Amino acid sequence: MRFYHATRWVFPRSYHLRIFAICFGAVHLPIAVFCLAELVLGQWDWAVFLPLLGATLVGTGAAIVALHAMLAPIAHATDLLRTIQRGGRVPAVPVGGEDLVGELLTGVARASAATAARITTLTDAAGKDMLTGLLNRRGFTDVAAHTLRADATSAIALLDLDHFKAINDRFGHDEGDRVLTAFARRLEAGLRKGDSAARWGGEEFAILMPETDLEDATAIIERLRLLLSLDNISAADSPALTFSCGVTALQGYQSFDAALVKADQALYAAKRGGRDRVERRR
Ligand code: GH3
Ligand code: MG
Ligand code: MG
Repeated sequence: MRFYHATRWVFPRSYHLRIFAICFGAVHLPIAVFCLAELVLGQWDWAVFLPLLGATLVGTGAAIVALHAMLAPIAHATDLLRTIQRGGRVPAVPVGGEDLVGELLTGVARASAATAARITTLTDAAGKDMLTGLLNRRGFTDVAAHTLRADATSAIALLDLDHFKAINDRFGHDEGDRVLTAFARRLEAGLRKGDSAARWGGEEFAILMPETDLEDATAIIERLRLLLSLDNISAADSPALTFSCGVTALQGYQSFDAALVKADQALYAAKRGGRDRVERRR
């Protein structure tokens, strides 16, 4: 590092030019010594000088081209590292040999893969519910923003498990967690491919049904309710798990928040109406 620092004043902003300058000096050393010797001896031998000059110029040109090519992978690796630092995705890193440049490229490839994996994990975690693996509010809102079309009717539903506190109180929190996770799997299995389910919080879930009218959405939720009643997921000596649901239609993401308020009002009505039912709001 000492030589590197000591020579920093030569082209301080260009590593390429600094190496070229060092090579230029080295390649011209024989001709410089020849000229000095001729001056000391008081003679000038053109027959030696001209071939020496020709060889020096050709050698310099060849060295500049070869060095530029040899330094290219380092320049490329530096660009890739800048991209990683900016949080960008790096395209495939070229494979190097077993030398210093090869090790540098391997290091960049590993750093890039590790950073990409970390970004994916963090992005996933930010949009997912840790317990059930469903989307969380944030993930659900992102999906809604991307899938809801202004020119089509879609539906949104809020579900709340009935008397869930009793499961916790009677069987403990772990059993409550197991029931929540099992319910999440039932939701996923009972929905269509384009639908999205999220854990809205606690024992409350949200479902997005893109390009689905209120009638079809209600039918889908009713089917879920029926499936759950046929396949009890709570403990054997506990009453069958049920849910109450509020469902509403919306047109595009701009009415997302208003639709959530309506679905929540419908859910409240379903609870007041005796639970284990689906209420809809136009
Ligand atoms: P309702 O039919 O009116 O909805 O009654 P409920 O008992 O389901 O509703 P309440 O709001 O009284 O209780 C919700 C319970 O859900 C209380 C809370 O401890 C439980 N709960 C919320 N989040 C979790 C969780 O992550 N794990 C477990 N095991 N329980 C949770
Ligand atoms: Mg609740
Ligand atoms: Mg509840």
